[in-house]
Amino acid sequence: MVEEFFELFKTPWEFYRPGCTYDVAIASADEVPEVDAKLLVVYGSTANSIDGRIGIAASGRRQRAILSDRDTALPIYGDLLTFANSNKEVSCVTTGAEIAGVRVEARDCAVIRLGYDLFDQVRVLLSTGQSIEHAHIPTLDIHIKMLRDWILNEGIPLLEIPPSPAGHSFAVCLTHDIDFVGIRNHKFDHTMWGFVYRATAGAAVNLFRGRISMAKLVKSWCAVASLPLVYVGWLRDFWEPFEWYLEVEKGLAATYFLIPFKGRAGEQVRRTHPSWRAAAYDIDDLSQWIARLKTAGCELGAHGIDAWHSVEKGSAELRKIAAISGESDIGIRMHWLLQDANTISVLEQSGYAYDSTAGYNETIGYSSGTTQVFRPLSAKTLLEIPLHIQDGALFYPHRLDLSEPKAEKCCNALIENARTFGGVLTVLWHDRSHGPERFWGDFYVRFVHKLKSSDAWFATATQAVCWFRKRRQVRFERLAHGAGVRAVLDSAKEIPPPLNLRVYPASPRPSGIQPSSSVTRPFIDVRWDGKDAMEFDASLNRISALPIEMPAAEICR
Ligand SMILES: [Zn+2]
Repeated sequence: MVEEFFELFKTPWEFYRPGCTYDVAIASADEVPEVDAKLLVVYGSTANSIDGRIGIAASGRRQRAILSDRDTALPIYGDLLTFANSNKEVSCVTTGAEIAGVRVEARDCAVIRLGYDLFDQVRVLLSTGQSIEHAHIPTLDIHIKMLRDWILNEGIPLLEIPPSPAGHSFAVCLTHDIDFVGIRNHKFDHTMWGFVYRATAGAAVNLFRGRISMAKLVKSWCAVASLPLVYVGWLRDFWEPFEWYLEVEKGLAATYFLIPFKGRAGEQVRRTHPSWRAAAYDIDDLSQWIARLKTAGCELGAHGIDAWHSVEKGSAELRKIAAISGESDIGIRMHWLLQDANTISVLEQSGYAYDSTAGYNETIGYSSGTTQVFRPLSAKTLLEIPLHIQDGALFYPHRLDLSEPKAEKCCNALIENARTFGGVLTVLWHDRSHGPERFWGDFYVRFVHKLKSSDAWFATATQAVCWFRKRRQVRFERLAHGAGVRAVLDSAKEIPPPLNLRVYPASPRPSGIQPSSSVTRPFIDVRWDGKDAMEFDASLNRISALPIEMPAAEICR
């Protein structure tokens, strides 16, 4: 959990070694030794040996509290210890009227004491994930920001590789789960009858509710009336997805998750109407599209049926997609987002490079509390690119059921968070969402336009995952005699775009600032392709690029 946390907050660190001097020491054990550090951050929801030494006392214990750090709300999963000290000068995190974090000036260093265990929060977020009520909060990204702010507030120099490439404040991954391909595949089945009902009576209700215009109601009814001509091939299939998405996303390579085997509902599906999960098409039927999608730079992944619970079936699904797409690194998103506690290890054993199933069907937001690509705790190599926004969650009547202006507001909040925290904003628009009776295409066009007007890097899922893998391959080496730090990238092949080395040089601690106040410290961004090692002195003031074959220094990750 600690190692994974510092892959997400990518900064030089090591496990504590007695006798070493540190800028910052982080403790989550109940017994904290005397450490030589400018800042000591102590996390934990039980009484700690440090509490008596710095003169603070616990006042109570809470379950599932919401913390406030300035204007940010932060859910805490599990126990929270609150503190008795009512001196507002020292409180830095509060929950309601109670204090959940304090900053105390101790003899040689500043101590920040928090009433929760950061690494326990990381464990919960990256394994079970967070509940729907807190979906809108990028909890893990906020934990990273809080720790960074506390370090910066002390004037301590900080080197970091932010979770977005040089020149971009975040990345965007546009994805499509292809469940139908066209209505022509559905004659007199539940999909067709469902469409007929929703496009006639349902559309009339939607007109009454102000969700669609009169023109769209007429279009829906015409679509139903035109079905026989669509079936005989005289009219265009209005559900056909590829032409429309290729046009809307011109120049922005998207990721398509395709069904490997048609007619399979899958085993162990414990939802209503499990037989409805079977798709009427599979990747074999898409031969005319595969080449076009690949020419446009799009990625083809698996829309898994049984891969979430069976290594044998998961491998077969992977082989099928790999054979037709001609790629060796295959990613997956499970159909209906099915998963359980073993899914990650099953997918890893099956050979998948990444998974993108971590997300909500019911709402939009951060199921793992982050936009960063991460390694789930049960995985060795597989990475998770979490899903954040899906069309059905925004608009289905039994989900969020939002009007377009409200949906736009919700999506904009996620874009704003991505600008602040970096990471990859992963978006899912289903294959038939642009056509009747959903008509969610206009919204999508505006949303993509909005993203294009930002400085986002548009990446396929594999491109984003590879970039994060590259960031994970960076090692920080401590130079001998505390002379500074060196960043080294162990990677044989060049993976664009470049990384960004963000340097906050040392600065005097601003006097009179509150522990909870936000201090903007100047920083320098250094574009880094990783070919040469980069060396910084102890204050991070001097920067030099060195040939990569430097003699190995002491490794501190
Ligand atoms: Zn699906």
